[in-house]
Amino acid sequence: MRKRLCLFAAVALLPAMAQEDYLARARKLATQYIGIDSHIDTIQRELILNEDLGQRADHGHADLPRLREGGVRAPFFALWVPTYYKGAEAVRRTLDLRDAIERLLDAHPDRIELAVSAADIERIAHAGKIAAVLSAEGGHQIDNDLAVLRHYRRMGVLSMTLTHFRNNDWADSSTDKPAHNGLTDFGKQVVREMNRIGMIVDVSHVSDKTFYDALAVTSKPVVLSHSSCRALSDVPRNATDDMLRALAKNGGVIGINFGEGFLNPKDAAMLKAMVNAISFQVPDLVGKALDDYAAAEFKRDMAPATGIAATIDDAVAHIDHAVKVAGIEHVGIGSDFDGISGPPKGLEDISKMPYLSAALLKKGYSDDDVKKIMGGNTLRVIRQVVGQ
Ligand SMILES: [Zn+2]
Repeated sequence: MRKRLCLFAAVALLPAMAQEDYLARARKLATQYIGIDSHIDTIQRELILNEDLGQRADHGHADLPRLREGGVRAPFFALWVPTYYKGAEAVRRTLDLRDAIERLLDAHPDRIELAVSAADIERIAHAGKIAAVLSAEGGHQIDNDLAVLRHYRRMGVLSMTLTHFRNNDWADSSTDKPAHNGLTDFGKQVVREMNRIGMIVDVSHVSDKTFYDALAVTSKPVVLSHSSCRALSDVPRNATDDMLRALAKNGGVIGINFGEGFLNPKDAAMLKAMVNAISFQVPDLVGKALDDYAAAEFKRDMAPATGIAATIDDAVAHIDHAVKVAGIEHVGIGSDFDGISGPPKGLEDISKMPYLSAALLKKGYSDDDVKKIMGGNTLRVIRQVVGQ
């Protein structure tokens, strides 16, 4: 009887102990690769709320302490400009965001440094610092001018999404009515110029037709920096299986988005309503009045959502689906932290990334597989496009 009780106790303890083992293995593994997240919106908090991202906050999803804890050593900081910033105003907003990054770099030179190449990322991460990678979000912010695009690259911006929630003058967005049937001739020129100057073409946010047009034109791998799988959650921001296969053929990477609607179909209606609410307003404002409007919008959108169905298991399911369709070499992480209102249960902020690695290990993924997903694949694309 005593023996049986012991056996019962041992069996009851088994799952909990195993979970701990996976987490310990995941944390150890995180020291052997450079964790990369191809999309976080955290710099908005520095610009709009004047926060010091060197401090651990009790809100939001990322800051330097939590990036470190999560093993994300090379985050892509998105310089996101809402589409209601038009023309030169969108350029000004991009410069303001770039300046906010500089403020962060200046405040904590011992903890974060700008990375403008794959070698930079490796050097900075191995020195124990966060390697800041910059990406522009919304092709409208070049104001239809390739010289502006080239200046962004000179300012250290290594990638750009071709659109945001609305079409621009040269590309259709996934969340707007088609106006150009994909990319215009100028849009194709933008892609070629990005290839030439070593800037990664980011096809998150674009319409399916724009996606295929970009793939037909590009001579380099692209990223779907923060999208998930449409087969599991049917929203236009996610990629179909056919798109995933085309991405694999191109050599690119999809960074799985953790937004609740991206992951779980029960939350998808909320995402669609949010997109409609924010992307179709066009305030007739400029300068400080426009910035004040954007600040109010940002604060409203960042209020934590309630009643969310998505969990860390959904994130694992999307990664697993993308791996099955596109292959292990073409899947990464693009959490969209600080740009989503409801992170999934179990992945509440970026410090929780080791739990995701642990869940993948538990599912049977090898150490090498996890290294690729958590950063290796995206680093390969950076090396191929931006250079060593
Ligand atoms: Zn986005």
